Amino acid sequence: MNEEIDQGHLRTPPGRLFRKYLYAIVALAFAALAINTGFDVWFSYREQKQLLAAAQREQAASAAIQIGQFVGQIENQIRWLSRLPPELSTNEDERLNAIRLLRLSPAIAELTELDAKGREQVRVSRRVADRVGSNVDHSSSAAFRGANESRAYYGPVYFFDDTEPFMTIAVRGAGSTPNVVVAEVNLRFIWDLVAGIRVGNTGKAYVVDRLGVLIAHPDLWPALRRSDLSSHPDVRAALDGVGPPSGGLIKEDFSGQRVLSTYATVPSLGWLVFAELPLSEAYAPIYASIGRSAFLLIVLLAFATLVSLWLSRRMTVPIQMLSQGAQRIGSGDLGLRLAIKTGDELEALGDQFNRMAAHLHESYATLERKVIERTSELEKARDHALAEHDAAERARSVAVAANETKSRFLAVVSHELRTPLNGVMGVLQLLDDGRLGEIQRRHLATAAASGETLIALVDAILEYARLEASTEALETRDFRLDQLIETAVDLMGPQAFGKGLSFDLACDATVNSSVHGDPVRLNRILLNLIGNAIKFTPSGGIALSATAERHDDHALLRVIVRDTGIGIAPDMHERIFEDFVQADDSIARRFGGTGLGLAIARRLTRLMRGELTVESAPGAGSVFTLLVPLGLAASGIALGALPPPSRQFRVLLVDDDPVNCEVGEAILIRLGHRAAIARNGAAAVALARKQPFDVVLMDLHMPDMDGVEAATRIRQLPLQPMPRIIVVTADVSRDTRERLTAAGIGKVVSKPILMNALREALENEPERGAADPRPETGALIDRHFLADQKDLLGTSQIAKLHRLLDETGEKLIADIAAAAAAGDHKQLARSAHQLGSAASALGLVRLFDRCRDVEQAAPSMSSGECQDAARELAALREASMNALDDLLAPAKHSSLSKDEVGSH
Ligand code: ADP
Repeated sequence: MNEEIDQGHLRTPPGRLFRKYLYAIVALAFAALAINTGFDVWFSYREQKQLLAAAQREQAASAAIQIGQFVGQIENQIRWLSRLPPELSTNEDERLNAIRLLRLSPAIAELTELDAKGREQVRVSRRVADRVGSNVDHSSSAAFRGANESRAYYGPVYFFDDTEPFMTIAVRGAGSTPNVVVAEVNLRFIWDLVAGIRVGNTGKAYVVDRLGVLIAHPDLWPALRRSDLSSHPDVRAALDGVGPPSGGLIKEDFSGQRVLSTYATVPSLGWLVFAELPLSEAYAPIYASIGRSAFLLIVLLAFATLVSLWLSRRMTVPIQMLSQGAQRIGSGDLGLRLAIKTGDELEALGDQFNRMAAHLHESYATLERKVIERTSELEKARDHALAEHDAAERARSVAVAANETKSRFLAVVSHELRTPLNGVMGVLQLLDDGRLGEIQRRHLATAAASGETLIALVDAILEYARLEASTEALETRDFRLDQLIETAVDLMGPQAFGKGLSFDLACDATVNSSVHGDPVRLNRILLNLIGNAIKFTPSGGIALSATAERHDDHALLRVIVRDTGIGIAPDMHERIFEDFVQADDSIARRFGGTGLGLAIARRLTRLMRGELTVESAPGAGSVFTLLVPLGLAASGIALGALPPPSRQFRVLLVDDDPVNCEVGEAILIRLGHRAAIARNGAAAVALARKQPFDVVLMDLHMPDMDGVEAATRIRQLPLQPMPRIIVVTADVSRDTRERLTAAGIGKVVSKPILMNALREALENEPERGAADPRPETGALIDRHFLADQKDLLGTSQIAKLHRLLDETGEKLIADIAAAAAAGDHKQLARSAHQLGSAASALGLVRLFDRCRDVEQAAPSMSSGECQDAARELAALREASMNALDDLLAPAKHSSLSKDEVGSH
């Protein structure tokens, strides 16, 4: 499983590190070699130059010595001729000796012997005839004078016939009157000597006399020209006695060639012997040495480069391995091992790296194992939770079924109680035909209020059932707060007084205002609190105080009901608000009651976003505080004064009960509408076919054909306009609700019919075009199902599902579009299936149906059909989500539960 990286594995191009090392090492080697070679060349150049100059000086000196010897030898020979004083030899002897000397020394061209006075005694010459005793006076000659002044005289070089150089040498003899011998010496011999001097291969030597005139040179022509070199700076310097520079002098010779020049002096004559060597030859060895060094430098450099390459590779390859290894481990290849065998710190680093990788591998494996263990634990826990959930679900179903049964029972009971009550209430309402006196009207109002209270009491049971089924919604309208409280007090006052209790009412001025809220529910709560206070107060009294604190957009109603009654033990303070709970059984027996009143009161208070609390102690009386926020009334309307309807409707009233029919008709007329009556379903359908109606007010429970069926049949008629159907019922069972929803009936009015409720139901006409029994949103969404889900799961859960559906739906639509574009039928079917499942969770039925169609048809669809289907699903999803947004939006919340979903 372990994989290795070694140097051989690594076939990557050299990286920057490699180049850095390479350049650094090569540069270092080059610098070292170049400096070394440079020094070497420089010093050997200087030494060579010194050596060359020294050798040349040697040659010049040896030539100078030879010339000196040559001249010295001639001088000695001449001196030999004058060795005898004149008195001891004859002229003839002298002549013979001179001839002998000429024969002996070829360089001497002429010999002249002068007496002490400078008169010529003998002259022997190679060019002219000998002359003896001529006595020609030479006393003024330079030679004679020179010889007498010092022992020997060396004349200047002169040229005879412009061909050969000659020099006069004169010596003085011994004795009191010494002779002077003058010799003309041919210097051609010196030419030969100079020509014989070898300075290198191509160098030369030449001689200059003490006046700077060139007297010997291997090339004849400059000599023949008797060049005067005294103006040359080096010659001038030499004549002035400046010694030659130790390293020689570099200058141009007569032919313009650059030469290394040095010289030596012939001591007796003051002549200078110059030796010159062309620089090209003089420095040839130096150049050769430089060439050799350069060659060596290049060879060494090449070698250094190779060594650097090797070294760099050796250093960078392990580092590269480490870097690559780290990279691969970083990308999850934990089995990787590095094989670095450099035997140095890098190898140690590689080993540590391997240990680290192994450690990581191990940790990872442990982690994986733990994850697996944890996953399996979680799965078990999930299974367990699912099992528990199933059990809970079953229990919940049982509870729901039981609840349903209870609700149905309560609905039936309340229905049976309501029918006679309805009659009483109706007749009471009709009594006020506008001709009654003030007192009669007041009595009538009290009677009506009592009737309504009675209905409300009956409604407690119904209310409780509705609250249980979570279908209760507020029915709000504008009303006078003071009237509401006074009516309640008026209603309950007689009871209190009858028990001998006092009943104080203290209403703040703020209460004298119109507010917007649910007066029926509020009344119900107040009656309950006052009723309890009276019921549980054997002596003393009751006090009710009310304030309505005005805020920006609402009024906060605070009603406090105090009594001096039996009080409530602290541990019961919360419990009395629970269903069917009474503080004490004995008390219950004494005072009666159901134990439902406070439970409903608190639930209703909370429905109104208010709070109901108690403060009490046994024997010390009780204080109930009701806090309810109420809306502000649009306009202050008074009870009894009805505004005219916005439009007169033709209403078909369907009810099997004659009293109800009469009451209903009267109310409709009172509200300003026209009414026709049908006493059963069939008659209603027949009448609707004959006459046009705007509204059908349909009783639900009728023999033969019930309200739903009659409504459905009317709907099926080709009517223009199609009447709105409003159902009148007190039935809250789920069954009924489902049937109403299925029949497309949204509007329901509670029974017995109250004038205001009916007025509102009629006035709140749905918008035009929405008369279709199944409006567009209804078709997109199964609202009944949605309402059920909401009951089942709760609002927050539904909101969560809504959000989830929004997100996943969008993603799935994108998936579907992608699958359709790519022609991936399988994926299309899968995504459509997922979208359908998600849509069904919130009752998006049309989307669900279409998704199922697409899922089934996907395998055989053409690519064009796929894309059409994707587009259609996207549009449908958007429409469905918009409809869902509308239904679930908080502003429409109450209308959804009240008008659309709730059924009574
Ligand atoms: P009911 O009055 O029908 O029994 P309620 O829910 O109205 O039911 O009251 C529940 C219980 O709370 C009563 O049975 C009684 O024990 C207690 N209770 C309510 N109001 C008062 C009060 N003002 N004084 C004392 N006890 C009260």
